[in-house]
Amino acid sequence: MPIFEYRCQACEEKFSLLILKTKDAAAVKCPFCRAERILKLPSAFSVQQSEASRLKNLDLSRPRDSEFYKNSCHIGLWAKKRMEQLGVKPSSQMEEIIEKARCGKILEE
Ligand SMILES: [Zn+2]
Repeated sequence: MPIFEYRCQACEEKFSLLILKTKDAAAVKCPFCRAERILKLPSAFSVQQSEASRLKNLDLSRPRDSEFYKNSCHIGLWAKKRMEQLGVKPSSQMEEIIEKARCGKILEE
């Protein structure tokens, strides 16, 4: 889906819009203050990856900062990569725990 992220240069609000036609993209206004001075941000889709490619690109030699773990997709990724390197397949129980952690459910238990 062609969803684009913008930031209003007048009120600093961020918003996402579905842009289906080129002429829509040219007519984008801030939904908060109606300003036309908006900045198109790099699409979030460019950084969206499948788990397989996230695993592949994960560099274990670099320490993770807290920003990394704010993305809940990254929870459990390090452990999985490490297991992959060791040739261990994550058990279904572990997969379940990781899935719960990613959905924030682990905090409820
Ligand atoms: Zn605005």
